[in-house]
Amino acid sequence: MNAKDVAGWFQRYADVIEEKKAWLTELDSAVGDGDHGANMARGWKEVRNQLKTFEGGLPEVFLLVSRTLISKVGGASGPLYGTAFLRMSMFLKGKEEIGHDDWPALLKAASEGIGQRGKVNGGEKTMYDVWAVVSETAEKRAGEPVRTSHLLEWAREKAEAIRDLRALKGRAAYLGDRSVGHRDPGAESTVLLFETLHQTVSS
Ligand code: ADP
Ligand code: MG
Ligand code: MG
Repeated sequence: MNAKDVAGWFQRYADVIEEKKAWLTELDSAVGDGDHGANMARGWKEVRNQLKTFEGGLPEVFLLVSRTLISKVGGASGPLYGTAFLRMSMFLKGKEEIGHDDWPALLKAASEGIGQRGKVNGGEKTMYDVWAVVSETAEKRAGEPVRTSHLLEWAREKAEAIRDLRALKGRAAYLGDRSVGHRDPGAESTVLLFETLHQTVSS
C-alpha cells in the first residue's frame, strides 16, 4: 500500500463511519454516554476534507489522521486513535509503501500506543483488546504473509469475544456487571477500520 492507497482506505472509512454513526451511538448509549458515533463522524469528516487537497507521502497521511482526530474528536477515542495513527506514522518514516511484512510491527506500534495512552493491558473490554489481538496474532505468524482478510477475521472474533467481559476502563466501567453482554463501541469502530482496510486492498 502506498500513500494513495492509504488515503483511499481512510476515505472509505470516513464514509463507513458516517453510515454507521447511529449504530455506534446506539452501542455507546447502552454502555457509555452515547457519543461515539458523533465523535468519530466529526473527526473522520474532517479527515476526508483534509485528504481532498493532501499531497504528502505515506507517513504524512497517518500524521494527518492523527492530528485531525486528536483535535476534532472529543472523548476518549480521539487521543486513543490519534496515538495509534501517530505511532504508525513514526514507524513508517522513510517508507513509501507498507509491505505484507510490515504489518506486524506497524500494528504493534499502534497497539502499544493505545495501551500506553489508555493505561490498559488487555481484558478491560476496550478497543485495545482488538488492536492487541490483531497485532499479536500477526506477529506470531512471522514469516507468513499477513492478509487483510486475516486481520479482519481476528478483529471480528475478538470484538465478539469481549462482549462477555465486564468493562474495567472508560465510561462502560461505571456499569460494572451490567456491561456484560454489550458490545464495546470502540472495539466495533476498530473492526470497521480493518473491514475497510480489507475492502480497499482485498488481500
Ligand atoms: P467517551 O467514552 O469519552 O465518550 P467515546 O465514546 O468516543 O469516548 O469512545 C469510547 C470508547 O473508547 C470505548 O468503547 C473504548 O473502546 C475506548 N476507551 C475508553 N477508555 C479507554 C481506555 N482507557 N483505554 C482504551 N480504550 C478506551
Ligand atoms: Mg462516549
Ligand atoms: Mg463522551
